[in-house]
Amino acid sequence: MARRRKPDWLRMRPPSGGRFTEIRETLRNHDLNTVCEEANCPNLGECWSGRNGPGTATFMLMGDRCSRGCNFCDVETGGMEPLDPEEPSKVADAVSEIGLDYVVLTSVDRDDLPDQGAGHFARTIEEIKSRHPGILVEVLIPDFRGDPSLVDRIVDAGPDVIAHNVETVERLQWPVRDRRAGYEQSLSVLGHAAATDIYTKTSLMLGVGEYDHEIYRTLSDCREAGVDVVTLGQYLQPSRSHLDVYEYVHPDAFETWRRVAEEEIGFLYCASGPMVRSSYRAGELFVDAVLRDGRSVDEARREAHAAT
Ligand code: SF4
Repeated sequence: MARRRKPDWLRMRPPSGGRFTEIRETLRNHDLNTVCEEANCPNLGECWSGRNGPGTATFMLMGDRCSRGCNFCDVETGGMEPLDPEEPSKVADAVSEIGLDYVVLTSVDRDDLPDQGAGHFARTIEEIKSRHPGILVEVLIPDFRGDPSLVDRIVDAGPDVIAHNVETVERLQWPVRDRRAGYEQSLSVLGHAAATDIYTKTSLMLGVGEYDHEIYRTLSDCREAGVDVVTLGQYLQPSRSHLDVYEYVHPDAFETWRRVAEEEIGFLYCASGPMVRSSYRAGELFVDAVLRDGRSVDEARREAHAAT
């Protein structure tokens, strides 16, 4: 399929000044990875420069190589290194140096480890929480092959938000995601996390060939599983060897989906837009307003939408 020309609404300003250099140096000094860099996130410049806030980055735990190979993802596959037992405290150090009050943690998948990395992930949450009691921690977790005891390990570590991405509609799970991932498996992980009082969140990429009725069904299934927050963003092809972009979805369509998700399907908050990514301050302002400032859901939603 001929490569589609990117529409104007997908143009990003390059990273510059602000806190960009400071954050990059802190990450290098502590030998830490971010999904921002590894997944080539288009919002890196904006997030690291703090153009839309205090300057933030999403830490990627357990190395920069994944045991899986999803066709939309730019993270390297195979050749995983042993876990760095110092990583939890290195992340907590970086959090202090960058001065974060809301931190997002994610990881590669580690199907190669007995507990798939759940213990290491949980220790990182615990280290941050013990050293920064007032901080809010959002975690974007793997599916741990649907094992509820591993999800419980994360829940017990006490994060404020548990996210897991369903990524796309059921019909397109393969070839979009690795064959070890799955629609029902991801819904069961989300449902298990949603059974606690921790906020839950998921994310959908649009533009990989899904139909509107499938998006509606996926949003409804996620809400039925108990998910509170959802983000919708445009799939962007990392390289020619990755999945083709089927469609560049217009910003108006994203706005329509935001309203459908909140007003019809009942999500507490939906961030929806071509450049929205699951960890891109999407929902952070909403969660911050509800958890830290004690705002009502309606107030928090209004404020978060007004600010983004
Ligand atoms: S599980 Fe898939 S999406 Fe996640 S880091 Fe690995 S390859 Fe990327």
